[in-house]
Formats: sequence, structure tokens, C-alpha cells
Amino acid sequence: MPDLSAMLERGPVVCAEGYLFECERRGYLQAGAFVPEVVLDHPEVVTELHREFVHAGSDVVEAFTYYGHRQKLRVIGKEDILEPLNRQALSVAAAVARQTGTLLAGNVCNTNVYEPSSPAVPEVRAAFEEQVAWAAEAGADMIIAETFSWLGEALLALEVIRAAGLPAVVTFAVHRDGTLRDVDSPEDACRQAEQAGATVVGLNCIRGPRTMLPLLGRVREAVSCEVAALPVPYRTTEAEPTFFNLSDPNAVVASPHGRAFPTALDPLSANRYEIGAFAADASALGITYLGVCCGASPMLIRQVAEAVGRTTEASRFSEKMQNHFMYGDNERLPEHIVALGDRA
Ligand SMILES: [Zn+2]
Repeated sequence: MPDLSAMLERGPVVCAEGYLFECERRGYLQAGAFVPEVVLDHPEVVTELHREFVHAGSDVVEAFTYYGHRQKLRVIGKEDILEPLNRQALSVAAAVARQTGTLLAGNVCNTNVYEPSSPAVPEVRAAFEEQVAWAAEAGADMIIAETFSWLGEALLALEVIRAAGLPAVVTFAVHRDGTLRDVDSPEDACRQAEQAGATVVGLNCIRGPRTMLPLLGRVREAVSCEVAALPVPYRTTEAEPTFFNLSDPNAVVASPHGRAFPTALDPLSANRYEIGAFAADASALGITYLGVCCGASPMLIRQVAEAVGRTTEASRFSEKMQNHFMYGDNERLPEHIVALGDRA
């Protein structure tokens, strides 16, 4: 069975996230609620996406249970599909992980009802318990607990995962002001998650490469375990540090809901080289668990993998512009056509 710690000892581990955005983009999931009903409606779409991410270099097949928890299903009045959805997501992911020798990850995430003094706390714990139990039954090699902006909520998830005896990757989403909701710094949150038994701690989602990288150096210094970095592939800035904040002054037609997030972020995308550079920079800081979150595509996952020296199945199709009809330098290209390149 693949083992996270053993893989991390051998070298960087690549993890594709971002299933919600990619399934929405493919026309199988609704923006707004962002509930992964696609695992029941069109499991073949999720299977294919898992395969494409592995083909592009992902070492982890993350069961698509992000936002497949009780609190999210309640919003759309479908709590009755909770268990079938989770079991199906795990079974679809397990099939791909076992075929490809990759890590099967269960997944829990922000419940959006947690607040430290809230009466919802026992409900949050129960939500993690049911999801982690289904993942353990499906034979998960690890659990990814992600996108937490409350340390307290992450620690609840971690406690449940550790009680199930599974390795945990715990990642935090850092909002505009650079703090978590209940602690002042992401490095402090990561330190506490490490002390509570996480195998890997770090940051994922909402921040792009430029506004995540500076925080990662501090996290790396604060902990001794392996560190994760999975930004969103968007050009966030100091003034607009997260994809919630991003504006698009060049939009000819703005989104009807008044912000670029989540359906009009496309022109604010980082290019593949920027994602590759982020992965290389994070790797140079000593970060060994790398990926991309919401907005990820197989193309970007390949870029991350190649940036840390890996050759993936998809690398066979990595660019070779020497053969381009106008911009190449292959001697078989007719010179009079190559000469047209400057005028194209
Ligand atoms: Zn994300």
C-alpha cells in the first residue's frame, strides 16, 4: 500500500486539488452551493478527472467529498444523499488510486458553521466523524483536512482523523488580513496542528502564488514536519490577496453578481510558468507537498511536477515549440514561413 511518509522521504509529493472548480467548468457542478453531486450523477466525469490528474503527475487521488458534508447538503435540502455521495466518491477515487499506485485520500473541509463558542461544535465533530469513518472503511491511505480558516475546526478534524489511525494533511486558507479567525498567524496554526499529530501542515486555496509564498517561508521555519503548499492559480496581489478579493477592471462584461469570484476569474489566471515558478520557489524553501487548488487543471499539475524534477506521463506532450510552423527552429520548417512569424 502506498504510504505518505515513505513517499515524502523519497522526494516531493504532488497533489491535485480543485475538483469543484474543474467540474463546474466542465458543466457538471453548480457554482454557488458548490456541492459535488457529480459523483452520483456522473461518476465517469470524476473518474476521468482523477485519471487526468494522475497522468499529469498527481501522487494523490483525493476523493471528491469536498463540500459533500452534512452542512452543505442541508443548504440544498439533500441531506439524504450524504452517505451515498461520500461512499461513491471514495469508491471512484479508490479505483483510480489502486490502478495507478497512488495515494487514496479521504477529505474533510471547512463546514461553514463552526465558531468556537457555537452550539454547532458537536455537530461539526459528528460531521468529521462520519466522513472519516467512511473514508477509513474505503481503505483511505490518508485524510486531507483542508481549507480551514479556524484552527479550532482544523484541530477537531485532526483529532477525529488521528483517532481513526490515519495520516493527516492539514491545510489552512488564509484570508485577506493574513490571520486565521482564531489565531494571529498561519505559522502558529501550523505549529499547533503539527503538535496535534498532523503528518503534513500548510496552506491551500484562496491565495494565489504571489500572496501565498511569503507566508510559506514563515510556516517552514515554524514546524519540523513536512509542509504543504497548494495555491489557487490566480494573480492575487498585496492589495487583493485572495481570489475573493480579486477585481477585473478590464472586464468588458462584468459578472452579474458583482465580483470576479468564482465565475469570472478566468482572465485573472496565472500562466503555467508562474505556477511552475511558484512550485520551484516553494521547493527551494524546503516545501515537499505541492499542488494547486481551485482552478487547477492537469496542465498546471504537470507544470508543478516538472518544476520539482519529475517526469510525468503527460510530459510526453510538454511543449516543443521548435516544431511550431512559424516560431520553431526545426530545420525542416520552410524558411519563408518562419520568416512570417514577426508579422503574424
Ligand atoms: Zn480551493
